[in-house]
Amino acid sequence: MRVLSGIQPTGQLHLGNYLGAIKQWVELQEQHDCLFVVVDLHALTSRQNPKEFSKATQEKVIELISAGLDPEQCVIFLQSHVKEHTELAWIFNTITPVAELQRMTQYKDKSKKNKENINAGLLTYPVLQAADILLYQAQGVPVGKDQLQHIELTRLIARKFNNQYGKTFVESEALVLPEGAKIMSFLDPKKKMSKSDGLPAYVSLFEEPESIRKKLMRATTDAGKEIVYNPARKPGVSNLLTIYSLFAEQSLKDVEKQFQGKGYATLKKGVAELLIDKLEPFRRKKKELMTRDLYLKEILKHGARKARSIAETTMQDVRSKLGLLAP
Ligand code: ATP
Ligand code: MG
Repeated sequence: MRVLSGIQPTGQLHLGNYLGAIKQWVELQEQHDCLFVVVDLHALTSRQNPKEFSKATQEKVIELISAGLDPEQCVIFLQSHVKEHTELAWIFNTITPVAELQRMTQYKDKSKKNKENINAGLLTYPVLQAADILLYQAQGVPVGKDQLQHIELTRLIARKFNNQYGKTFVESEALVLPEGAKIMSFLDPKKKMSKSDGLPAYVSLFEEPESIRKKLMRATTDAGKEIVYNPARKPGVSNLLTIYSLFAEQSLKDVEKQFQGKGYATLKKGVAELLIDKLEPFRRKKKELMTRDLYLKEILKHGARKARSIAETTMQDVRSKLGLLAP
């Protein structure tokens, strides 16, 4: 199976990104033909400081490798290194109904959060995402639950194109894990954990122990004191139980039992100490990679070359299907 997924170089890679998406990527790379892309062009939909942006992009690649991606087993590349992404996005723009884009949850959320910068790119973000995926004819797209709507739209775009111009694209499937597909914010457990939400709302995969303790102790729970898994009634507590269960590799039932009759402080402390322990290898690997500029450049160069060769083949087919004259 061809697999593709991406991540924005905004903020730091957090528990949600890892449990919902990257953990799957690490497993899939062993058996499938995988491409993972740092979507720097998508990140431009929020304002970036150019100098920091270059650094953040490089750091995101380091973080992905630290989290377990192996450049020998998968292709890692930057979206902006393959021009075909924007070219195909333009073509998809011409067959995508504006109304479909306007009803996307991410568009609505991000416009609400960013009233002073509701740019056209924020609206057409899922069109570029469809191009990211379909350019590589990816059958599987491992993502968190928040991206399901966008993958559905990707399928719609593929279908529309195929109907109008003849079979060209596969209909990609979202690969969503049964647990961890939607890790909630520590500040507001009714909202998903997001990189762009600022630091106290999320714990990064590379967070220092003291900071993990602080954030966990401040995590929002509820006015009760029962430790039970019930996302509707107890979103904060359920989120903590989910995180514990996934990192400890124990069932939710067992974790619930383990903390039965104990206070919220004990649960928070338990999660904090478990995270400190489990995240240590990620921290170590990232520190080591932060000094290896040349190695990273090589990975990206090699990744772009591989990605480009697939993307160019797809675009040749697309251009000819559309009746665009060859140069
Ligand atoms: P931003 O706030 O900048 O959109 P993000 O945290 O949503 O950042 P993305 O780069 O948009 O991160 O998404 C990368 C991957 O992580 C996607 O597959 C997405 O579905 C997944 N993901 C993001 N947040 C969560 C979460 N809270 N729980 C599970 N998966 C998540
Ligand atoms: Mg996001």
